[in-house]
Amino acid sequence: MKIAKDTVVSLRYELSDINGTLLERTDDPISYLHGGYDGIFPTVEEALHGKDVGEKFAVTMEPDDAFGEYEHDLVRVEPRSLFPAEISIGMQFEGGAEGADEDDYALYTVVDITDSEVTVDGNHPLAGKTLNFTGTITGVRLATAGELEHGHAHGEDGHHQH
Ligand SMILES: [Zn+2]
Repeated sequence: MKIAKDTVVSLRYELSDINGTLLERTDDPISYLHGGYDGIFPTVEEALHGKDVGEKFAVTMEPDDAFGEYEHDLVRVEPRSLFPAEISIGMQFEGGAEGADEDDYALYTVVDITDSEVTVDGNHPLAGKTLNFTGTITGVRLATAGELEHGHAHGEDGHHQH
């Protein structure tokens, strides 16, 4: 069965940057509902369309296709007093600009700490990177009525409860 709208696709993938550094690799196949349900990056969905089980794929995603361009505006220096006493580099906080809607909140990662200030970065760790998404299609099946209703896949066999 070929990948078409309203099929559930299972695949194994590796995500690496353009230098070949491996960033992420699946242990078990992931599944998504194909056909514009935002189940996977649109560029990947486009490349997979019409492919069959067992076929390999290799998609290069520009930052805009993946986690966005790196935005310097999202790096902010805040007073140390706004943060808990025990913080360390790499910790993450959810927040937004003053008066921002909660829907616009981003995940900020602590990147620098001094006695008086904390620098946080709201960019996704992979923002600004061109990424290679490669892998193998391990399954294609028709979506169930429940999956179409929910707009997402319910696992490889369609019986995942949630
Ligand atoms: Zn569901």
